[in-house]
Amino acid sequence: MRARLRTIITVLALVGTAAPVVAQMWPAPIVKVEGLRQISAHVHIIPDNSVPAVPNVGYVVGDRAALVIDTGLGPPNGASVYEVAKKLAGAKTLYLVTTHVHPEHDLGAQAFPATTNLIRSTDQVKDIAESGLQIAKLFAGRSPIYADLLKDADFRKADITFEHDYDLDLGGVQAKLTAMGANHTVGDTIIWIGSDRVLFAGDLAMRAQPAFASPHSSLRQWFTSLDRLEALAPAVIVPSHGPTGDGTGFITGYRAYLTEVRDRTADEKRAGRSVDQALATVTTAFGERAPDKARLAGAIKAAYAEAP
Ligand SMILES: [Zn+2]
Repeated sequence: MRARLRTIITVLALVGTAAPVVAQMWPAPIVKVEGLRQISAHVHIIPDNSVPAVPNVGYVVGDRAALVIDTGLGPPNGASVYEVAKKLAGAKTLYLVTTHVHPEHDLGAQAFPATTNLIRSTDQVKDIAESGLQIAKLFAGRSPIYADLLKDADFRKADITFEHDYDLDLGGVQAKLTAMGANHTVGDTIIWIGSDRVLFAGDLAMRAQPAFASPHSSLRQWFTSLDRLEALAPAVIVPSHGPTGDGTGFITGYRAYLTEVRDRTADEKRAGRSVDQALATVTTAFGERAPDKARLAGAIKAAYAEAP
């Protein structure tokens, strides 16, 4: 019950507002396939144009097979993402993976044909079992367009599951899929294209502030994950939302921000202050450096719970 309440609260934090739904606030979350561009020898992306509930979609194309990363919100977006995959990969074997199971990343998978091989970490399977369509229902309340896109949307069963890592040989290019533990969500998965030095980092390193979107989201785990991302030494990071980043800038940015959250919050807890007092003090200390107050609050709460 408590975990459920925290889920609802973190979902509100994720949505960014607890205010009544106003349709105009939410532009149509449509993947704009005309934005498709090649960013390295084997990788193409469709940028999200920073529209809420649109993911950056990725394609890794080898000689023998291709991998699609994230589906867009609901089957209609999934269908257009699949059309692009067909254009890029022709009759090659198709694999699909999602950076996490939030609706705009995963709930378009139904539109892919049965021959597409959906790969999931066991953590994603757990995440779906625990949270189900909770966030999809919330999203559907944003506007009639969201509701239409999510009509009859449901999670697709994995064809291939893995626990920690999965090496996928696409023919002349390898994709390494890694389950990263509970950071943004329980099922966070990164995709590393070593030959191209391109990292699909999900929500683990972006320009926008990190979102602690699950009751299991852990600050400690996030630091561990950032070290692992940095060790890959990516040339380009494709986050699940927002612009791509050169080098490790998003990683060092997240580490600096989360370190400050951790240390300031630990100071508050050590001084005997409540979590609400810590929220007030640390939020004031960040000021305009942390414009997304809901996301900052999520990070402070996690930091408070994990502080000694
Ligand atoms: Zn998400």
